Amino acid sequence: MSATVQALKNQLLNDIELKSEIGVEGINLEPEIFKTLALGTEYQEQVHTLFEFDHEAHEDIPLPCGFTNPNDVHFGFKWDRRSYFDIIREDGSYLLRKKGKELFPIAFNKRPKYFELKGSDGTPFKTVGNYAPGELAGSTLNVAYSNECALKETGLDCLFCNANATAARYAHKEGVTWKNPRLIGEALKAAWELDGVRHFTLTGGFIPERREVDYYLDVAEAIVDIAGLEDFNGTAVIGAPLDLEIIDKYAESAFRTLSINLEVWNPHYFEIINPGKSSQLGGRGNWIKALEYAAKKFGWGKVRTSFVTGIEPKNFTIEGVEYLASIGVISLTGGWNVGIGSALEGHRTPEPAWHWDMYNKAHDILKKYGFKHQDYFDVSPGANTLVGDLFAVEEELFPIQKELTQNELTAKDSSRKSA
Ligand code: SF4
Repeated sequence: MSATVQALKNQLLNDIELKSEIGVEGINLEPEIFKTLALGTEYQEQVHTLFEFDHEAHEDIPLPCGFTNPNDVHFGFKWDRRSYFDIIREDGSYLLRKKGKELFPIAFNKRPKYFELKGSDGTPFKTVGNYAPGELAGSTLNVAYSNECALKETGLDCLFCNANATAARYAHKEGVTWKNPRLIGEALKAAWELDGVRHFTLTGGFIPERREVDYYLDVAEAIVDIAGLEDFNGTAVIGAPLDLEIIDKYAESAFRTLSINLEVWNPHYFEIINPGKSSQLGGRGNWIKALEYAAKKFGWGKVRTSFVTGIEPKNFTIEGVEYLASIGVISLTGGWNVGIGSALEGHRTPEPAWHWDMYNKAHDILKKYGFKHQDYFDVSPGANTLVGDLFAVEEELFPIQKELTQNELTAKDSSRKSA
């Protein structure tokens, strides 16, 4: 590897570490700076289809979803007025600063074209799912069939989760509601054709397993019929079924991958953090059995779980990532973003260095078991996950890396010819 290629890798890793730090700290800005930004027409506005990620509520303040830096690294945007990062507008450009020192100019995410459109029942597509743009393997559409979790009825919501609080705060205002399979098929068709979506996730709250499987299979059928996509690279996110053979039905459907989210690994944490998952659907033992069963049915790299990292000590999560990778299951290890409206509101996630170390350790484990960027992308709800970025740097997938390698090859070729 040439010195320039290595220098670029190091630069990208610095950007990704910064992204990890911003994920913890959020970003401050004065909403007035958007007076001149066409949010909601030219640039993508936030729509709360399941969670609120900002560190404060903003019912009447439209905010952007994210931005890229000059190296094409995507950053998510979470508003936090206490943050030492801020975005300012200067001479017509937007600049990211850390403690008042300019880092780089940024470009907010462009609004996807399908956001302009509506389903045949008149529902605006922008309320159907969470869209994340991506150039490395494609963009992603993450649909929550219901923006409310049925655990609300029992008071057993996962302690970190703010889905029900987010629905109560924004759903009426933003028009987010339950989605029928046809609407999802129509929205995915438009996003696939117009905005380069190449991975689809279907998720939602807790519903009884029989109803869940019927609904998911209806969505898969609607996508095949309406979008004409036999393989839409879809991940079905489900609760662990008591009858494990229900997983066979998902494996026979058009979903390519399956997700059963543990959130934390240690049994004691599992019981406390996930009271609903723990007291219903067979408890932790059944959730792990379901992952093991699914790994055999779907195959290597076709099943994933999600951990909310930073709630339990790091070694517990690492133990889970390692065990699951050894049976072919990919763990997503997104950092705990303390959700406003969740039972843990007011707590703090670990420091940025803790999260950066966790991301790298998770990446090292997955790499050791042979997983690649494409495997990770195929099970991720977002196109620009942090561990996905680490895979991409390693595999030289960033556009700027490809360009540099190409330039170096061309230079070598022309010097050979002139010699
Ligand atoms: S199961 Fe837990 S994480 Fe999922 S929506 Fe319900 S409360 Fe939230």
